[in-house]
Amino acid sequence: MASNEVRKDYLLNRWVVIAKDRKKRPTDFAKKDLLKKEGICPLCPGNESMTPPAVLVYLSADGEIRKEKDQNGFRHKEWLLRVIPNMYPVFTPPTKKNVLIKESPELARAVGHHEVIIESPCHDEHPATARVSQLVHVINAYLDRLAVLSKKSYVKYVSIFRNHGPEAGASLSHPHSQLIATPFVPAIPEEELEASKRFWNKNSECLFCNVLKKETAGPRFILENSSFVVFAPWASVNPLEFWVLPKRHRSNMLSMSGGEVKDLAETLRVCLGGLRSLLNDPPYNFGFHTLLSEDARDCYHWHLEVYPKLLTWAGFEKSTGMFINMISPEDAAAELRAAVQAEKKALK
Ligand SMILES: [Zn+2]
Ligand SMILES: [Zn+2]
Ligand SMILES: [Zn+2]
Repeated sequence: MASNEVRKDYLLNRWVVIAKDRKKRPTDFAKKDLLKKEGICPLCPGNESMTPPAVLVYLSADGEIRKEKDQNGFRHKEWLLRVIPNMYPVFTPPTKKNVLIKESPELARAVGHHEVIIESPCHDEHPATARVSQLVHVINAYLDRLAVLSKKSYVKYVSIFRNHGPEAGASLSHPHSQLIATPFVPAIPEEELEASKRFWNKNSECLFCNVLKKETAGPRFILENSSFVVFAPWASVNPLEFWVLPKRHRSNMLSMSGGEVKDLAETLRVCLGGLRSLLNDPPYNFGFHTLLSEDARDCYHWHLEVYPKLLTWAGFEKSTGMFINMISPEDAAAELRAAVQAEKKALK
């Protein structure tokens, strides 16, 4: 029997075994339907008082978007989108002006922000089936909050992520994403930045721009439009994982133009729609990697990583940080490419 490949990530010192001979097909991971039971949804319109006051509300005003906040106990109604502080925040704003974040090399304060972006007033308008116009609001809300939080002196990184389905950590089924602003750059983006710097110093080229060229023409390619390329990464840790890379080199997603926001909305809609139709609405997580610091500007390239949650990591993965993926990224890309094309056609 031929041995499996062990592949290294483009940037991280992270290795994954592509265990092709486990003979799994991508569609073997299709989700089985379970009976749903649910109580009152605190994120639905009419239940605004069940949540903390919104830090940002999008309201429709004569075809324009008006941006407001909930103030003095008042809660805006008839909203298109709301951003609220998380009811159980993991990171909380500092109480004193000159907050001491690192108390010792081993101890720091979890100072920052933790917010929930309620993506739609409709209880089941998830990105895979959403109106593209609604996803434009969602991305604009990410950018609005990123702009505000990244100006705070104690914020060094802002993670924007989404958990879909209870198996992927979503405790509420109403469509929502989250944002956590942290007082230092977490390990994975930090390691990505270091690797990007090394590549830049050696080649005077951005590593991601280089990957973009390779993957656009290769066997892992999934989708391209005027602003983005989607592909299954070479060393995918998760079966059916895909990344969305902007064509324009920028380290920070705050630089997005209106056209790019629209293109990203459409990209999310057809890619997550394709994943949904392929595997019967599987659980997934996604996270943006976007860096705020000046030293990231030339060498780093913001992107979105989408991780379908089809497996449970067990003893080997947990104890070694090395992974086993039984769907090769090439097979994953072929299935996703077809599903995403079908989704694109249906959308038109
Ligand atoms: Zn709801
Ligand atoms: Zn680049
Ligand atoms: Zn990344």
